[in-house]
Amino acid sequence: MAGPLPRHLLPDTAEVGADGRCSIGGCDLLDLAALFGTPLFVYDEAQLRARCREAVAAWGDGVAYATKAFLCVAMARLATEEGMHLDVSTGGELHVSLAAGVPPDRLVLHGNNKSEAELRAALSLGVGRIVVDSFDEIERLERIAPAVGARPRVLARITPGIEAHTHEFVRTGQDDSKFGFTVATGLADEAVERLRRLDRAGIVELVGIHAHIGSNVFTLRSFEEAARVLAALASPLGLPELVVGGGLGVPYVQGEEAPSIASWAKVTRDALVAGGLDPAVRVTAEPGRALVAGAAVTLYTVGTIKPLPGIRTYVAVDGGMSDNPRPVLYGSGYESFLPRSTDAERPVAVRVVGKHCESGDVLVASAFVPDDLAVGDVLATPVTGAYGHSMASTYNKVTRPPVVFVAGGTPRLVVRRETLDDLLAQDVC
Ligand SMILES: *Cc1c(COP(=O)(O)O)cnc(C)c1O
Repeated sequence: MAGPLPRHLLPDTAEVGADGRCSIGGCDLLDLAALFGTPLFVYDEAQLRARCREAVAAWGDGVAYATKAFLCVAMARLATEEGMHLDVSTGGELHVSLAAGVPPDRLVLHGNNKSEAELRAALSLGVGRIVVDSFDEIERLERIAPAVGARPRVLARITPGIEAHTHEFVRTGQDDSKFGFTVATGLADEAVERLRRLDRAGIVELVGIHAHIGSNVFTLRSFEEAARVLAALASPLGLPELVVGGGLGVPYVQGEEAPSIASWAKVTRDALVAGGLDPAVRVTAEPGRALVAGAAVTLYTVGTIKPLPGIRTYVAVDGGMSDNPRPVLYGSGYESFLPRSTDAERPVAVRVVGKHCESGDVLVASAFVPDDLAVGDVLATPVTGAYGHSMASTYNKVTRPPVVFVAGGTPRLVVRRETLDDLLAQDVC
């Protein structure tokens, strides 16, 4: 038995009418489902803009949106309009950002295995920063930068030996990691030394170090500890920039709480200064999830309801692990609600599953729904704005859902639904 959906899990502009129906950005969710079909990602544009502005206010110049959380042309434009820089970690993310008209000097290139082609593209475009991740990459830069005639600003990604309190797969600060140069093994010192040599030779400009401890971190204490370690590592280097990564978590289900962007920034900055970092160092960050996760809900249509006596009830919807793989990948929890009856009590325990040919195709393992749930209902899962659309696949040849931005009572289709012919677009015979 669960009470009504906690309202704080809905986007900022969500409203519930006297009839119980939910609207976001002034658009009724059932109307959107009828207009665009389901599954459908609905993003509260005002919330996306507000979170970007909060990030810029909290972190200042250079704060970057980690595009892997959710990227399309409209999102890249929105983040740029609101003053963000953009993190890209592949040629594909670079391509979409450029197509959106993002000035290259506002892009930061990440990635633990950047190809020659990706580095060459970044250098000839003049991306703002490159975050160097390996000795192989240093060699590539040494070769390619002079050939292209570019002198990139680079940061060395270090692995500070911090275990973030989050899921193992999204922990990135521990010593045993594919990312960056591990401090404990002396590799970080060696990398900085080699980049300094390239700097003196005029091949790169070494501007700072970078660390990212993991994703969906809920405790300020984790960020504080990381900042203390980073201050001790960065101070002796005397470099002008420090990037502390992203990773701020968001509440997904009843009972979860996460710090605000402002308090994350304040705790981090205070700990850096207390740790002895020169206040003149440009400290910045690169949030992804915290900017976009809570801004979206996914709308599905219930297709079958299968009660297994004495076992459980399966409620199957028209999407699944292809539009939200997080439950399968990380065991992530979600809430669900019926937009026709947003504040209804949810007394019935069910499992919400998708339409894929896998038993593991679960969207909400322990869902609670109103007792009048019926086939044909639109069912919504909130907080699906991050790592859903961006991780979507066409598994079982299920077409990927469209994305609608809503604001001021008007829906704006920013990514159309994938068509059946799109599924054939790469077949050449
Ligand atoms: C994924 C990632 C981020 C963003 O992480 P969130 O948890 O979405 O804030 C930032 N920096 C780097 C290097 C990343 O890989």
